[in-house]
Amino acid sequence: MPVTQRNASRQRTRVGDEVSVRAKRILKTLEARMPTVRVELDSSTPLELLMATILSAQCTDERVNQVTPRLFAKYRTADDYGRAVPEELEALIRSTGFYKSKAKHLMGCGKAIHERFGGKVPGKMEDLTSLPGVGRKTANVILGSYFGQPAIVVDTHVKRVSNRLGFTMSQDPDRIELDLQKLFPEAKWTSGAQRLLLHGRYVCQARIPQCGKCVIEHDCFWEGKVRQT
Ligand code: SF4
Repeated sequence: MPVTQRNASRQRTRVGDEVSVRAKRILKTLEARMPTVRVELDSSTPLELLMATILSAQCTDERVNQVTPRLFAKYRTADDYGRAVPEELEALIRSTGFYKSKAKHLMGCGKAIHERFGGKVPGKMEDLTSLPGVGRKTANVILGSYFGQPAIVVDTHVKRVSNRLGFTMSQDPDRIELDLQKLFPEAKWTSGAQRLLLHGRYVCQARIPQCGKCVIEHDCFWEGKVRQT
């Protein structure tokens, strides 16, 4: 059995209660630690958030936030992106990495939103994922943040934390999304996943998790946990 599967099954048996009970308790603890949560990409419209989320692939939110003020000042509508001069757009987003393919996605998205959705970012999963460069993760960011729909964003942090806590045995984001949907009350999908994400970004980090500072340490039975002396 792969290590992640072994960890997850151990998580289920060691705590003595159902993983769903533990998941709800963990959400409550994280909620007390982080009463308000928001996406850390700066934006003031769904279009801005969509473009910022596309840029955040393989890049930190901090870096994206350094780039977007000038980007959003130059390109204000979906049509603006659709008509962009590739070299000009690429120059603005270069520091986010993979700038050529990201520029293509930004332009393709702008064009599609202008032509197919009257210039407005659509509020349905199937419409969002029909846009160039938009997968379920990006679509869930938009649905949860701007359309108030229950939406679980599975990024690298949510994937790692969910596995360490035994909420899933999968590395596949779509499967993890389904597993978390079953564990979390629907009303907590958006905020719960966002709290897992922030917990992973600032505490349960990939290389050296800060277990000594972790408020859910008593509810975590991951065997790679860093013991404090
Ligand atoms: Fe992550 Fe450590 Fe907290 Fe477990 S105890 S959730 S491994 S930081």
